[in-house]
Amino acid sequence: MKVAAFHSSNPTDPDVHHNQNDCVSGRQIPSWNIVQGTGGYPLCGHCAKR
Ligand SMILES: [Zn+2]
Repeated sequence: MKVAAFHSSNPTDPDVHHNQNDCVSGRQIPSWNIVQGTGGYPLCGHCAKR
């Protein structure tokens, strides 16, 4: 389902943000790396298809 935008603070992760809580890519972000908001990044491709 759709959730508030979030992204990873890890510089090695793709520069995208997520807005789906079941995104396969977003779910790989550990909780300590999750930052709320888009970070100015485009929407992740997986999230965009949902
Ligand atoms: Zn995503």
